[in-house]
Amino acid sequence: MTNCLPTVRSVADLRAQVRVWRQDGLRVGFVPTMGALHRGHLSLVETALTQADRVIASVFVNPSQFGPNEDFSAYPRQETADAGLLGGAGAHLLFAPTVPEMYPPGFATTVTVTGISSGLCGDIRPGHFAGVATVVTKLLLQALPDVAVFGEKDYQQLQVIRRLVRDLDIPVEVIGAPTVREPDGLALSSRNAYLSPEQRAIAPAIYRVLTGLAERLRGSGAAAAPLLAAGAEDLLRAGFASVDYLELRDAEDLAPLAQADRPARLLVAARLGKARLIDNLGV
Ligand code: AMP
Repeated sequence: MTNCLPTVRSVADLRAQVRVWRQDGLRVGFVPTMGALHRGHLSLVETALTQADRVIASVFVNPSQFGPNEDFSAYPRQETADAGLLGGAGAHLLFAPTVPEMYPPGFATTVTVTGISSGLCGDIRPGHFAGVATVVTKLLLQALPDVAVFGEKDYQQLQVIRRLVRDLDIPVEVIGAPTVREPDGLALSSRNAYLSPEQRAIAPAIYRVLTGLAERLRGSGAAAAPLLAAGAEDLLRAGFASVDYLELRDAEDLAPLAQADRPARLLVAARLGKARLIDNLGV
């Protein structure tokens, strides 16, 4: 696939293009990513195309959302391939800023979303959601799109972004798009590239456990705690090295639930070799 997608690297050039589209009365959609794109990301572009006349995708590996011992430098980077994939999916513009463009010398502002950023990945990855909230706020204010599409794959992140957009009156409609999976249920993720063939064979256990739990919890009034503990055991038995969390939460505000007596979400993070896999499922 050829790289024929127009690419801008500065906020000024991004805004100049968006201004032209606005003057033509076009609706603008936006899909932020960290690159190493797969069908999950491209499905977000497809969703954006149903809501907007022009779609911008961004590729930016955001240093501030990685912890000191996380995989920022190892994170896969493949901009030329990504541009080809985005062009093939119908995106109109790639925004690929440099780190100094996003964080110029003297940068001193952090967006913190309290409450919903705590627990789950917020506890395991201190500072992660502040990094996400800050970069997403910047990207939305830079592009000022009509709609922005995010994946349910990162469910806590999606709820953090919905909260900050409401709280900061950012005039953008946030759309959550369903998780795209491999045929065996494994959620597509750029980090699946870290899995060896043996680990790749173990990884779908995460979705099997989630679907099994959802069936048992849905409409049954069953206590969640023993089922969740058994589910975590199942993951360890399948070959996961450890389970960071496996929890049942309120689908909106992510408050812990003892049973699925309202719209709920199962959320899991578990470690397999160098990869930390996260997934979630509605109940
Ligand atoms: P990332 O590049 O991993 O930061 O993800 C960029 C966007 O793609 C986020 O909104 C993710 O939730 C979304 N995304 C990642 N994996 C998937 C997937 N398997 N299905 C749908 N969306 C996804």
